[in-house]
Amino acid sequence: MKKLWFTRKNNQRHWVGDGFPVRSIFTYNDIAPDISPFLLLDYAGPTVFEPTTKQRGVGEHPHRGFETVSIVYSGEVEHRDSSGGGGTIRPGDVQWMTAASGMVHEEFHGRDYAAQGGHFEMIQLWVNLPKKFKMVSPRYQSILKESIPKVSIPHGAGTLRVIAGNYLGHSGPAQTYSPIDLWDIRLNAGVETDFTYTEGYTTSIFVLSGEVRLQDGELISEAELAVLEPGGDRFTLKATQDAKILFLGGEPFHEPIVGYGPFVMNTPEEIHQAFRDFQSGKMGSFQ
Ligand code: MN
Repeated sequence: MKKLWFTRKNNQRHWVGDGFPVRSIFTYNDIAPDISPFLLLDYAGPTVFEPTTKQRGVGEHPHRGFETVSIVYSGEVEHRDSSGGGGTIRPGDVQWMTAASGMVHEEFHGRDYAAQGGHFEMIQLWVNLPKKFKMVSPRYQSILKESIPKVSIPHGAGTLRVIAGNYLGHSGPAQTYSPIDLWDIRLNAGVETDFTYTEGYTTSIFVLSGEVRLQDGELISEAELAVLEPGGDRFTLKATQDAKILFLGGEPFHEPIVGYGPFVMNTPEEIHQAFRDFQSGKMGSFQ
């Protein structure tokens, strides 16, 4: 059994630009070494935006050394980057953007959504790249809802969408640089489910809404992350209320994490180099 290791919650919201009221559940400055390859989880919303003609969001900024993964639950996000990637991410879609050697991008609410207003809820995850891939070329994967397999969890416990990795023989569409499993799970209240998962892989459960009980009896509630011990090869979840969950798992790599702002590398010198390269335009620009 993978036992509960620790839980984490952050009720402080802050704005990313003027479009994303986020709770940073973890960052590369705190628990990232314990849940490699994941570096950061920002939970935006749930909230409601009024209709507007203004484009809310965050303007041109760089990244280097990792990937940003945006999962939209409600609302719309429009993206454009200096390597030519771009598009609108709608509910159920996922954007998997490999910044790697560096790019600049902007993230705004979608035009149609902004005009109508309404519910907004998304997660942005930062996924680390192994040292040997930190300086590969940027890549943009637009993963549409239709391409994400939706699997029934046995015994009517709910459904699971495989964004990356594998569940009961179903593989997700995301291409990753290290083994990662990312599952968008909906659990129905009252059914206990046994999940098998690779021994030694980091194993975390983020509850967006509802409440789940772990096998140890611990209750995990809204906007809370449960990190399980990597040892053991299974765990159980039982929703006490219908629950929306993001499962994050993967093979950890034990390499130094040095981050500053939008850059996450292995050494301070590489961070200084990232600033120099950004300032001299080597990560591209829209101008
Ligand atoms: Mn960004």
